[in-house]
Amino acid sequence: YMAKEARTGVELYQPDKDRNSPERLHLLGDLRRAVDNRELRLHYQPKVGLTTGAVHGVEALVRWRHPVHGTIPPAEFIPLAEQSYLMRQLTEYVIEEALEQAARWWHMGLKVQISVNVSARDLLDSALPEQLEVGLARYSLPPDAIQLEVTERILMGDQAYTHDTIKALAALGVPLSLDDFGTGYSSLIRLQRLAVAEVKIDSSFVRRITESEDDERIVRSIVDLVRSLGLRSVAEGVESDEAALRLAEMGCDVGQGWLFCEPMVAADATLWLRDHLDPEPALGYGYRPAEVTRTA
Ligand code: C2E
Ligand code: MG
Ligand code: MG
Ligand code: MG
Repeated sequence: YMAKEARTGVELYQPDKDRNSPERLHLLGDLRRAVDNRELRLHYQPKVGLTTGAVHGVEALVRWRHPVHGTIPPAEFIPLAEQSYLMRQLTEYVIEEALEQAARWWHMGLKVQISVNVSARDLLDSALPEQLEVGLARYSLPPDAIQLEVTERILMGDQAYTHDTIKALAALGVPLSLDDFGTGYSSLIRLQRLAVAEVKIDSSFVRRITESEDDERIVRSIVDLVRSLGLRSVAEGVESDEAALRLAEMGCDVGQGWLFCEPMVAADATLWLRDHLDPEPALGYGYRPAEVTRTA
């Protein structure tokens, strides 16, 4: 029975549960097979300029279409993968898929940056920058056709371990995005030392800015901080017009969330991009505000 299975599944991923429990090992086996059998699919969610409507890129979000449990969200299997060597394999797969999709879109004239989420293990592996370099060259894509989203905790944590990989990525020209900002413990000084292009404000703050003065203040100060560092601010989890308006007033650059678009399969994302991303920059204006296409 599906619902019960799914509930049981959720319980399996509690970090305090026995790491070697049979259920856990079974699911890990399933995940290993899933990587080989292409049960993992990427969905794409746009990042939209809050005052301009410009498309700033799309984030690739992985989904697992399990033959028995149905679609399993990443929150339920990424933490499991992160505890094994499978995480590297999974990220390699996600990057290959993202590069292939970027190549398809770029060759259609839809020059959009794809962000890929990476985990701590990925940044410990020098194979990551190598994979990107080879992949980008294979499709003749510029390095900023891909961006890596790294959570605040990983980037701020043990910097010594990730230093070489981050340096190699910077040399390659692949931008970094600091994901889930606000949930960790970053200081302004440390943030300044890192070569990040954008900071994504965690949805847990963004979702409540219209109801909670505290959260409103937190988001406002993050936006100010990010701007003072010369970086782009991206609000995650923008669900209402009211929130988008408030964020725009604060000077937040970009929004991502259900208000604009839910994560879409590649075919739907292609149609969306055709509508919202001007394919002919020769006209002098690379991007079209969403309003224009809605009334067209
Ligand atoms: P994230 O990178 O912070 O991604 C944002 C999450 O917020 C996504 O959940 C997205 O579907 C969801 N979201 C988007 N708009 C809204 C909204 O308006 N309201 C709300 N409440 N949520 C919204 P998703 O796809 O379930 O992914 C969850 C997390 O799993 C991601 O958080 C990311 O940390 C991780 N993840 C996803 N794909 C990958 C991947 O390929 N590799 C790795 N390492 N992690 C991934
Ligand atoms: Mg992300
Ligand atoms: Mg995030
Ligand atoms: Mg988040």
